[in-house]
Amino acid sequence: MGDTIFSKIIRREIPADIVYEDDDVLAFRDINGQAPTHILFIPRKAVATLNDLDEADALLIGKLVLAATAYAKSQGFAEKGYRCVINCNEDGGQSVYHLHLHLLAGRRLSWPPG
Ligand code: AMP
Repeated sequence: MGDTIFSKIIRREIPADIVYEDDDVLAFRDINGQAPTHILFIPRKAVATLNDLDEADALLIGKLVLAATAYAKSQGFAEKGYRCVINCNEDGGQSVYHLHLHLLAGRRLSWPPG
C-alpha cells in the first residue's frame, strides 16, 4: 500500500485537528465536514480498505468502532444519534486509501445516501 495523506497525519508531517488518539487509533476532524460534527477515525496500522482486513484485525476494527461510539457519548450526542460510515473502493466513494470510519452528527441525516 502506498503512502497516503492519512499516514502523513499519523506521522505529524501535515497538520490535522486531532480530537482523540490512543495506541491503535487516531481521530481528527474531516477537512471538508458534511455535518456539524464530522470526525475520521483511522487505525495507525496502514490498512487500505475494508477488503484488506482479516481475522487478525478483528480487535483493531472493534477498537475503531468503540473509539467512535465513546467519542459520541463523550460529546453528548450519542442518544440523539449519529452515523458511522466506511466507504470501500470506487463505487463506495472511497478517496483516501487508508481505512477510515466517518462519524457524522449534529443534523438529521437523510437515507438512502447519494
Ligand atoms: P473517503 O471519501 O471515504 O475516502 O473520505 C476521505 C475523507 O478524507 C473526505 O471526507 C475528505 O474530506 C477527508 N480528508 C482528505 N484530506 C484530509 C485532511 N488532510 N484532513 C482531514 N480530512 C481530510
